[in-house]
Amino acid sequence: MLEKNVTTFIACDKPYDEAEFVLWGAPFDSTTSFRPGTRFASSAIRTESFGIETYSPYLDKDLEEDARVFDAGDLELVFGDSERVLEQVKQMTQIIVSDDKIPVMIGGEHSLTSAPVSVLARHYPDLQLLHFDAHTDLREDYLGNPWSHASVIKRCHDLLGDGRIHSFGIRSGEKAEFYWAKEHLDMHKFNFDGLEDLVEQLDGKPVYFTLDLDVLDPSIFPGTGTPEAGGVSFDELRIAITKLAGLNIVGLDVMELAPHYDHSGVSTAVACKIIREILLTFSK
Ligand code: MN
Ligand code: MN
Repeated sequence: MLEKNVTTFIACDKPYDEAEFVLWGAPFDSTTSFRPGTRFASSAIRTESFGIETYSPYLDKDLEEDARVFDAGDLELVFGDSERVLEQVKQMTQIIVSDDKIPVMIGGEHSLTSAPVSVLARHYPDLQLLHFDAHTDLREDYLGNPWSHASVIKRCHDLLGDGRIHSFGIRSGEKAEFYWAKEHLDMHKFNFDGLEDLVEQLDGKPVYFTLDLDVLDPSIFPGTGTPEAGGVSFDELRIAITKLAGLNIVGLDVMELAPHYDHSGVSTAVACKIIREILLTFSK
């Protein structure tokens, strides 16, 4: 007799009933303002994850032994219909949250983040959003589309209001977005300065963590649609994630890998290693 052989993210093959985290792929890149391709990220990440180890020597934890993650595969998303896709992502999040598990979305373009945030904001009225990104993502709309990935943090602000969005690594956006952020967001430019103080402030509060991988410098992470020079290093990001260990994380996502822009495959390998570190950091 043979066993079912399905490719999951490495070691994310625990039974649903026992899982603390449910990981799924959202292969959608319809509103990407510059170069498309994030729809190929989740399948590339699953395949390439077998190139990394399940053990993290940084954390002395192993995905096989110290994490309970169920990989639900990819959603089937209609290309070009943002509102319908956001609805599908909301439904997926709702199922996972109703089962008392933590949703982990692998993008896909960043616009999708507003869907799990809306579900979790209903579930946790004092939800906080922690946002790592090169970009402000605060445009009211982009070329008339309010659901663009360039508007996703504005859409999250519509849901959460002032003072509950904490952005780090931001180094690109319109002047008006940066000035608006001063009034309405807790924005930290360029790096992770201030993260430790924030983690203390957020003690016990429910937090959604959204990671736009283009926060990384394009020299280590060229595989993305809108590369932005001057980003953080792999170790700076990894150490920042380690500092989040004490937070009450109720959902998270890892967005904006576009694997085909990096023919070396390094960007996908970086994404895999970051996902491993995230899962091990937050596993109880
Ligand atoms: Mn970005
Ligand atoms: Mn973004």
